[in-house]
Amino acid sequence: MKSGGDGPKRFHLTTFGCQMNEHDSERMKGMLGALGYVEAPSRADADLILFNTCSIRESADSRFIAHLGEAKRLKGEDPEVVVGVGGCWAQSVKDEVFERYPFVDVAFGPGQIHGLAEFLASDSLTAQGYFGLEGFAGHLPAHRERPFQAWVQVSQGCNCVCSYCIVPSTRGREASRPAPELIAEVGELARDGVREVTLLGQNVNSYGRDLRGADRRSFAELLREIDAIEGIERIRYTSPHPKDMKEDVARAHAECPAVCEHIHLPLQSGSSSVLKAMRRTYDRSRYLDRVALIREHVPDAALTTDIIVGFPGETEADFEATLEVVDEVGYDGAFTFIFSPRRGTEAATLDGTVPHPVKRERMGRLVELVQRRARERAQRFVGRTVEVLVEGPSRTDPSRLRGRARHNKTVNFDGTAGPGDLVEVEITDATSQTLLGHEVLLSRVG
Ligand code: SF4
Repeated sequence: MKSGGDGPKRFHLTTFGCQMNEHDSERMKGMLGALGYVEAPSRADADLILFNTCSIRESADSRFIAHLGEAKRLKGEDPEVVVGVGGCWAQSVKDEVFERYPFVDVAFGPGQIHGLAEFLASDSLTAQGYFGLEGFAGHLPAHRERPFQAWVQVSQGCNCVCSYCIVPSTRGREASRPAPELIAEVGELARDGVREVTLLGQNVNSYGRDLRGADRRSFAELLREIDAIEGIERIRYTSPHPKDMKEDVARAHAECPAVCEHIHLPLQSGSSSVLKAMRRTYDRSRYLDRVALIREHVPDAALTTDIIVGFPGETEADFEATLEVVDEVGYDGAFTFIFSPRRGTEAATLDGTVPHPVKRERMGRLVELVQRRARERAQRFVGRTVEVLVEGPSRTDPSRLRGRARHNKTVNFDGTAGPGDLVEVEITDATSQTLLGHEVLLSRVG
């Protein structure tokens, strides 16, 4: 039931897209909490209906528009309701959002979440848009979903020009947060009970290049400084670019106890000519060279990746090249996508469209290979005891617990631990997705 004047105002927030959006939504909730808002269980109960949007693919847009329809209906029933749209989709349609969706009261880009607070504090009667590309959501208070895990935004934007990607136009050029500020923030989080931090950036391992003087650290130096913070047991990061995966980062994985044995290294394609058309700035051998570097320093590291199938001009031979790299690397997991042209990107204008049935058939072969190799790779954990950070009850069997190994593998196991606990689990079985086992020793309590 809406506040109806007495009691705190209520908001409902729907988040679409990547971990950076999840992070931004935690900041949006923290900011609204600081403004006295409380979270409503449904849109129908909210005085403020919010969306944090993604625009990575056309399908993301259409999925969001369906949800926006409900907000329009609810505002039609109660004109007092405020509708706000943030994130990459809002930034990508900034010039026409209010014309196309006149029931939207406020819209703001990924770097402008504070604009929402400005709008809510003002008694503006007209719709307001906030679309500057500068600004870190990381400066805002956060409402964390789990008290023992935290996202830490280390940079915003991307200087790359991948031909299929809209991110540089919705999140701007790379801007890194000063290292002393980040170290202080992680120190604060550790004192607040956080054990695992995930460092976020569109191109996280090019962190620091734009910083000067005392603010400047390389990504590897930042990992080492965070590793030294008392209470931080685990450090993860996403998303790195293969061109910036340097020896100093691989060494940090090998030498820093808290830096986890998992690296997400997006491949996108195994064909050098397709990688060129994607403007990924590395070719197949350079990519495999990065994999070899990682495995030289962290032989047991889990490697995951992103792959696009059906990029314009992709031939059967190009696709075979992708399968060869997947087979050679043996990923622990992969996110696989069928290419869809993104309005406003170079790739959307390229010739050589691959027919959809061909894309689907290739996707089928790719997924089969990825899962087979991931299952084979996962067998190395059977019989081993791994450290697991407990997240809660298993999603598939509530009588069991679920957590994450340092290799970023989901572990479902029998045990007595609680969320936030670090426990030793003996692995008895492994699928391509998850490890199964039982708790051995309650090593440390949260
Ligand atoms: S590296 Fe490429 S794919 Fe990733 S955000 Fe930047 S432009 Fe997009």
